[in-house]
Amino acid sequence: MYSKEQQHQLNLLTEKIIQHKESLSDKEKAEALKKAINYHDWRYYVLSEPLITDFDYDQIFKELKKIEADNPKLVTPDSPTQRVARALTSDFEQVSHLVSMLSLENSYNADDLNDFDRKVKEFTSEDKIDYCVEPKFDGASIALVYEDDMLVRAATRGDGAVGEDITNNAKALASIPLTAAFSKHGIYKIEVRGEVIIRKDVFEKMNAERKAAGEKTFQNSRNTASGSLRLKDPNEAASRKLEAVLYHVSFAEDKNGNNLLAGKLHSHFHTIEILYDCGFKTPIHELKVCHNIDDVHTFIQTWEKKRVGFNIETDGMVIKVNGLKEQQKCGYTSHHPRWAMAFKFQAKQAQSKLVDVEYQVGRTGAITPVAKIQPVALAGVTISSISLHNADFITEKDIRINDTVIVERAGEVIPYIVGVVADLRTGKEKKIDFPTQCPSCGEDLVKPEDEVAWRCDNADCPAQAEERVIHFVSKDAMDIDGFGRAIVIDFIQRGYIKTMEDIYRLPYNSILELEGWGGKSVENLKQGIEESKDRAIWRLLNGLGIRHVGVTTSKDLTAHLKSILDLKDYSLEDLINIEGIGPKVAQSIFEFFNNEGNIRLLHALEEFGVNINNRPADLRAKNNKLEGKTFLFTGSLQQFTRDQAKELVEQNGGKLLSGVSANLNYLIAGEEAGSKLSKAKKIPSIQILTEDDFLKMIS
Ligand code: AMP
Ligand code: ZN
Repeated sequence: MYSKEQQHQLNLLTEKIIQHKESLSDKEKAEALKKAINYHDWRYYVLSEPLITDFDYDQIFKELKKIEADNPKLVTPDSPTQRVARALTSDFEQVSHLVSMLSLENSYNADDLNDFDRKVKEFTSEDKIDYCVEPKFDGASIALVYEDDMLVRAATRGDGAVGEDITNNAKALASIPLTAAFSKHGIYKIEVRGEVIIRKDVFEKMNAERKAAGEKTFQNSRNTASGSLRLKDPNEAASRKLEAVLYHVSFAEDKNGNNLLAGKLHSHFHTIEILYDCGFKTPIHELKVCHNIDDVHTFIQTWEKKRVGFNIETDGMVIKVNGLKEQQKCGYTSHHPRWAMAFKFQAKQAQSKLVDVEYQVGRTGAITPVAKIQPVALAGVTISSISLHNADFITEKDIRINDTVIVERAGEVIPYIVGVVADLRTGKEKKIDFPTQCPSCGEDLVKPEDEVAWRCDNADCPAQAEERVIHFVSKDAMDIDGFGRAIVIDFIQRGYIKTMEDIYRLPYNSILELEGWGGKSVENLKQGIEESKDRAIWRLLNGLGIRHVGVTTSKDLTAHLKSILDLKDYSLEDLINIEGIGPKVAQSIFEFFNNEGNIRLLHALEEFGVNINNRPADLRAKNNKLEGKTFLFTGSLQQFTRDQAKELVEQNGGKLLSGVSANLNYLIAGEEAGSKLSKAKKIPSIQILTEDDFLKMIS
């Protein structure tokens, strides 16, 4: 680290250099330039607080290069120009670590932490232990060896005992000092461990640039960091803007070969201070020394919230016994130190293997490819199949069978495939051949030019019929209690149901005979079906499964009707004139109500007693308190679900928006609201409400 006074001097020096104010010999000038560049590297990479522009930096860097080119004798190994070696590395040499690089034991909850605390107290025979708690950086581990203040070696973790010598690439990282003043602390030889990472903002920018240049984007920063470290071309490695955070001293000796750990160096925090003082990027500003395990837990919880806004990916926290004597008393297993423990945050991403692709036929005939993956646990659920959306998605991400895929699931969001890890391909991967025929009925698939999905246009396609019935009975449509997907499929296979009207003439006597059915369950089903006859007609309209017509459109449409059958008299123009209905939707409604089969179905339903008329109660909006106002919900809601929130807004005449814009009147922010909230704060016309505020508005 540089003292205030040193920084002041270096700032003056930089100014003189940039403005060419001093007449110096080449040797003096080279010295001054080296000093200045090292200082600005530190400002930029360690503090993230650059003082000079990139342009000025490039100028002084070029100047040093030129002087060195003219006077090769002035090139010293610690010159910043030596960070990028000229030669390509052919193969990385294997090197043994001074001390094995072990794993960490994982913990997930307060109980695990208490267990850890109890064991540590047993090992040390102490009843008070200080713990140092710091972020667990999600990058690639690295071990640096300095001798006599010079960086002499950098290695990857490898198998823990033996890693790869990546010294040339490590030198390209400006946050790794080529020389460090360990001698000031009486240290002659030291092994320092840390993590090579790419900052989130740098990673995003890099991907945006690659996308703009038509290049493949990187999947996640951890894989990119470890891949980049092992690039054969140090210039390419340097262009990836990697940084190193150092958090551990695994070996430290003085000139006479005396071990300094647990001697002169007394605590973990002490070693971090020394690393910081020697110019390394360390977690010194993020860590906390806690005096008991409850404090550790509280600190972890605050970090779990904070980490989203932290500019480096973290996957947990690391809890370390602070005293090095106490660490020694705890010792090691062959797998991990007993004095440390990782606390894992709930993962957002996981890797798995794509085993197969299946094709689902939707109720409107759209074919959706679904990836079958090796089951993987992620954020509390086990995932074994994931939608691949459409053929374009597969092509864009170049997904192949047998590929290693990265799966992401954030919060309640449906899991999706971020991409594949192409580096792990073995040659056994197979291209995914999108079918040309419907997997259910064999009809040739078609793809309208302006759509992304391939579809089966066969009106009698059994898979579509199945999906239509499932949709008809679902929560957002006729909402028939106890009539789940599996039952629908079973009834279709038994021939009880072919079309929707068959739901209202089920052979209850035969069902009663089926395995798994008893008097009570049949009675319940019967009652659910009876009740569905009296639903508001937007449910029926939605249940019919007309393309492009969902809940919102159904409500918009039926608000104008006396009977659902009125729609057969609407011209295309009439339909387009209804607010909220565009030409595509209008066309599809028009076609539906001009199809005789569909009209017959509606009459049949009516005969079974299904309500097809708008009842007076449904015509009135419940309330128009929110008329003309727009709403958006974000964060995790405590008092109602998303669906209920939506219902509340609509019942009261308000409108939901899907994103933050100047058209938005109210943003209701639940707990841990993120980017939507920060965006809304920048638009003065948007009012930000709590859930309670919102409930007050409609009460
Ligand atoms: P794991 O590989 O999941 O067993 O976790 C152990 C690894 O976590 C170590 O090898 C380090 O590379 C990494 N790590 C990240 N941040 C830290 C930290 N602050 N302290 C110790 N290890 C860390
Ligand atoms: Zn089909």
